[in-house]
Amino acid sequence: MKRGSRYFFWPLVLTLALGLVVQGCGGGGSKKSPVGGGGTGGTGTGSGTGTGGGNPGDAVGIDFTIDVPSSADSAWVEAFKGRLNEVQGRMWTAFEGQMYMKNVTIEKGGQNGKVNIDPLQGSWTYAGSTKCRGFSYSTWMQLPGEFLPQAWLHEWNHCFIGKFPNEEYNCDDASNDVCIMNVVKAPPNERWHYCDQGNCLVGGSNGVCWENWFLKKYSSWKHPNTGFSQTPPSATITVK
Ligand SMILES: [Zn+2]
Ligand SMILES: [Zn+2]
Repeated sequence: MKRGSRYFFWPLVLTLALGLVVQGCGGGGSKKSPVGGGGTGGTGTGSGTGTGGGNPGDAVGIDFTIDVPSSADSAWVEAFKGRLNEVQGRMWTAFEGQMYMKNVTIEKGGQNGKVNIDPLQGSWTYAGSTKCRGFSYSTWMQLPGEFLPQAWLHEWNHCFIGKFPNEEYNCDDASNDVCIMNVVKAPPNERWHYCDQGNCLVGGSNGVCWENWFLKKYSSWKHPNTGFSQTPPSATITVK
């Protein structure tokens, strides 16, 4: 099984506004227990497209699998697809039209996806809570089913870009949208951009998302990438 305990546990956040870090969200690595006895016969196979329909051009399209608990019903799946579609739009903007989710498989009872959703409900609330909203490891990430889109994009940077485990929870000021990697804010104050050398408030090797991480991983990318289409491409979502 891929999700072994050898991975360290990196809480996304857990803080109050002053950055007080509370350890140990989730507990036990949130490893899903092995699925017993097959559990086949899943229902709700189908596919659909996300919002958008824009032309991805030469943007990087990511194919990946999302494991969800086998108890997910069709209503949950539909709501979850809607949440993915919101992420798609936010991701497209955050990466300035250079990355998007392309072929997404939602696998009920899956164990080896790049994204693990567990539990089905809840966003692991913010503000005043000591609960985190997501985890990331170098090879997979986990979120609750009603995750906040900023939390998705935060963990995405760790897991899919490789900015792991580098955190910059303090790359933010009260009124400006500096970096998605700061402590996830309660809606409507979530952050939707990644920082660059012009605005990063952390600096060093942990900070400066664009120059230190994105532009090193994808040498053809530009920042700022002016003039990209404001219409995100569709994601093809398959449920199995
Ligand atoms: Zn940043
Ligand atoms: Zn920063």
